[in-house]
Amino acid sequence: MIDHDPWLLTPGPLTTSRTVKEAMLHDFGSRDQRFIDINKQVRSRLVDIIDGASSHVCVPLQGSGTFVVEAMLSNFVPRDGKILILINGAYGERMRTICGYHQRATETIEWPEDQPVDPKSVAARLSADPDISHVAIVHCETTTGILNPIAEVGEVVAKAGRSYLIDSMSAFGALALSAQKISFDALVASSNKCLEGAPGMGFCLARKGALEATQGNSDSLCFDLYQQWKGLEANGQWRFTPPTHCILAFHQALNEFDEEGGVAGRGGRYRANCELLVTGMRKLGFETLLPDELQAPIIVTFKMPADANFDFQSFYDGLSARGYVIYPGKLTVAESFRMGCIGRLYAEQMQGALDAVKTVMKEMGVASGQP
Ligand SMILES: *Cc1c(COP(=O)(O)O)cnc(C)c1O
Repeated sequence: MIDHDPWLLTPGPLTTSRTVKEAMLHDFGSRDQRFIDINKQVRSRLVDIIDGASSHVCVPLQGSGTFVVEAMLSNFVPRDGKILILINGAYGERMRTICGYHQRATETIEWPEDQPVDPKSVAARLSADPDISHVAIVHCETTTGILNPIAEVGEVVAKAGRSYLIDSMSAFGALALSAQKISFDALVASSNKCLEGAPGMGFCLARKGALEATQGNSDSLCFDLYQQWKGLEANGQWRFTPPTHCILAFHQALNEFDEEGGVAGRGGRYRANCELLVTGMRKLGFETLLPDELQAPIIVTFKMPADANFDFQSFYDGLSARGYVIYPGKLTVAESFRMGCIGRLYAEQMQGALDAVKTVMKEMGVASGQP
């Protein structure tokens, strides 16, 4: 039996440090000045990560990442607006579903899951349809781990004079994104992906003027980002019970993010994790779904081996028994599974996962690339 929590090589929830977990050993009242100060710091540090202090503000929201994606779409797209959603995986698809619930006029362009969003088709669609007011994109489509060209698409959207909305959930904090270089009205991410806090809250980084213009757009009380922001600006408090422990953990996670060297340091560790994983898995005979140039250092999709002895459930269980949790694929283009590089994981855990893969393959009687 393993004597520690499993290492989570998944798209989330993710492994957090002991110190992040320990930061939650406090009960703060929502009006406690110390807690109010921590909130203020967390919000301004998140804006600093995108170099956005002069242009953008941070609105936190209770819930998992999808809650704040839903809040962004339903607040920024007015009821008479029309959104173009760029889809190459499940999270883009989920944005379409959200817009359906909120009855926003929706257009989509779709690509196969192993192909990135293509800025040229976006440009063509925008010039063909002047009614499109907003464009939404997923930064790293966690379905496969593919990196979408958010900067190039951002230029196309800006040139066409439309509003740009980004789901950067699984990339934020690991891949550089500057509000000075990419023009966007709103971006969303959460506490528990590359920032390695506890799950439980998301946040929207919004261009101040664009957020002000959303007043009255929301068709939900809880998801009203404008009101959430106004409340926080007025007295530093959340409108409804804040996820206090989650925020304390997030504050500590941001300290650790800074100590690691911010985006460069965090992204660097994930890139090293990803390289170790991909190189090791290829040596064991596995193939990645994506060519290296399309792969973000976040999560890697491997094709299911063709060997008849390979059984995914046994593979999963064997790794799990050794303390490594992986994730099934959810692709239409190929049978696959995923292994994540993010969260509090280092070379030691990645190597441990590779060793476990090798052992489990042997147990199943699957020929691996190594003798
Ligand atoms: C994780 C993730 C989300 C949010 O998922 P939740 O399960 O609601 O936290 C949204 N978009 C992307 C791209 C993600 O990776």
